[in-house]
Amino acid sequence: MRVPFSYLTEQFANPEPIFEKIRAFLKRCDFTLGEDLTEFEKKFAAYGQSKHAIGVGTGTDALFLSLKACGIENGDEVITPPNSFIATTGAIIQTGARPVYVDIADDMNIDINLIESAITERTRAILPVHWAGCPAKMEAICQLAKDHHLAVVEDGCQAMGARINGKAVGTFGACAAFSFHPLKPLHVWGDAGMILTNDDILSEKLRLYRNHGMKDRDTIVEYGVNSRFDNLHAIVALHEFETMDSTIEKRIQWAKYYDNALSGIESIQIPKRAPNDRHVYHLYIIQGERRDELLKYLNHHGIEAKVHYPIPLHLQPAAKRFNYKQGQFPKTEAQSQHSITLPAHQYLKEEQISFVVDKVKKFYA
Ligand SMILES: *Cc1c(COP(=O)(O)O)cnc(C)c1O
Repeated sequence: MRVPFSYLTEQFANPEPIFEKIRAFLKRCDFTLGEDLTEFEKKFAAYGQSKHAIGVGTGTDALFLSLKACGIENGDEVITPPNSFIATTGAIIQTGARPVYVDIADDMNIDINLIESAITERTRAILPVHWAGCPAKMEAICQLAKDHHLAVVEDGCQAMGARINGKAVGTFGACAAFSFHPLKPLHVWGDAGMILTNDDILSEKLRLYRNHGMKDRDTIVEYGVNSRFDNLHAIVALHEFETMDSTIEKRIQWAKYYDNALSGIESIQIPKRAPNDRHVYHLYIIQGERRDELLKYLNHHGIEAKVHYPIPLHLQPAAKRFNYKQGQFPKTEAQSQHSITLPAHQYLKEEQISFVVDKVKKFYA
């Protein structure tokens, strides 16, 4: 049996409805900022319980432009966790600010008890990540931000559809970033990103920034960039959007299956789930003893388990100039050694999931 991690070929097994819309699009030729994008922005905003959605070129740009719109610039400090995908830190670097890492808690999200001691007079923002689809502790983060007059930008790139007490992630901070990269649950045929915000002024700014700061064809009111969500991709996104919630529900179902089946194994730790959160399991990650051996064993048996990620951001060669030390973020480092991501996507069958469970049990028996 094979248990693949990727499902892209299954997802686009029937592209005809998309092709049909592309034919209509080729008659209109509104290639940039076209009507499909406008429609998708509206739908995504409503789904995300936000007033505004601004389509941009990538999730990374969504983070960068959000930080820029919040006034983050050269010399500032932005607090963020060191266990994310590089894009979170990359966006901070792009503004000229310095990423200040704060260790994570058992849920793999930024530890709210460690944030305050990382705040300095240069701190301007907190950039929490809803890691793997698990909502960060937004109420506490926003309270801290308010007390210290900091902006909050949410990295929701792995967490579309996630909720805290029914409230969508992405509605807590000033802005939130989402990604439609092919590895994300709703994705396009390439790269695209989205910013959600409830703030009219930020929304205005972001619409300018993504399109060279052009108010109209002849007037540049601010310096921006070229980072637009292609209309072609918006057609694909609208198609995917129809099934997004059932996709998410399926992943949640497999995650619960794993949680139940694996919870009796002593060598495995399943993160505690907050009962009022909707964790969307972009990644199904648990902690296991002898992780590298387990990974090899599963891969050998046709199970495409992965590690997200073996080297935390503060220990990457690129981070050298910040002088972070090994041992500085013990939780992050421990999790980088014990985390394992099991395939849990919507196209898997129960026999495949139970095969994974069997093999994990055999490994630790
Ligand atoms: C995917 C991802 C991003 C960046 O998204 P791109 O669209 O690939 O630029 C940012 N943060 C996290 C946590 C991600 O997983």
